[in-house]
Amino acid sequence: MSFRSLFVILLLLSACSPKTEYDLIIRNAMIYDGSGAAPVAGEVAINADTIAAVGKLENAVGKREIDAQGMAVAPGFINMLSWAPVSLIEDGRSQSDIRQGVTLEVFGEGWSMGPLNEKMKQEEKAQQGDIKYDINWTTLGEYLDYLVARGISTNIASFVGATTVRIHEVGYDNRPPTPEELERMKALVRQAMEEGALGVGSSLIYAPAFYAKTDELIELCKVAAEHGGMYISHIRSEGNRLLESVDELIEIARAANIPAEIYHLKAAGRTNWHKMDEVIARVESARAAGLQITADMYTYTA
Ligand SMILES: [Zn+2]
Repeated sequence: MSFRSLFVILLLLSACSPKTEYDLIIRNAMIYDGSGAAPVAGEVAINADTIAAVGKLENAVGKREIDAQGMAVAPGFINMLSWAPVSLIEDGRSQSDIRQGVTLEVFGEGWSMGPLNEKMKQEEKAQQGDIKYDINWTTLGEYLDYLVARGISTNIASFVGATTVRIHEVGYDNRPPTPEELERMKALVRQAMEEGALGVGSSLIYAPAFYAKTDELIELCKVAAEHGGMYISHIRSEGNRLLESVDELIEIARAANIPAEIYHLKAAGRTNWHKMDEVIARVESARAAGLQITADMYTYTA
């Protein structure tokens, strides 16, 4: 075989080598991978519901291709503090959030859609506003299944509300639960955890949530901790008693052996702004001692 004919055969081979084919290629995107690193320009290839390749994919073709020139591609955003549990019943398409990139809605900052007793269901029915709906669930897991069965665009998850289990047993009374009531509250948390709750959520700035003392919250969190859950809290005060409230969250984390997150950390009121350095110092100190304390914050002026 001459050199010339070998060259021709090689040319033919390269022309015939099939391009890798994917279901979908998003081209010319700025890719944010979620690690916090700077974005990179490139392509993302997807097969079915799985990312198959990321990078420069000039030699690949997509059955469908999207030109994302001038746009960012990122993992779905998580709405950590979603109050969409009712609006998603009305319209599961979640247009307002999903068009902003939110693909996971996390409910349960203090109140959750279960567990409910008959009295709570009646109250909820009576308080319904524009969105009217039947309450065909009792536990938190049943509510989440109900929403999925109706059909929703986003993924969903929920904490079980410390307020919700308190109302379930104690109602709106300003008193500690009896030992029997507390046991039943713990059993409700246990059931919610077994159904997939992320942990216990409290919102201690509102009645009747703030009737709960620290030891009550510790007892509920111990149950969540046994199931790998975490504690999240709109803490008791974000202003004049901010430091005491951060201390309470850290105490709950320590006593219940549970990771704990301060929701929307802030120092409310000009006279309290100077406390933020001390808040961060206390969180850092707790973390150095081995506790898993985290915080999140608004990304806007609130
Ligand atoms: Zn809050």
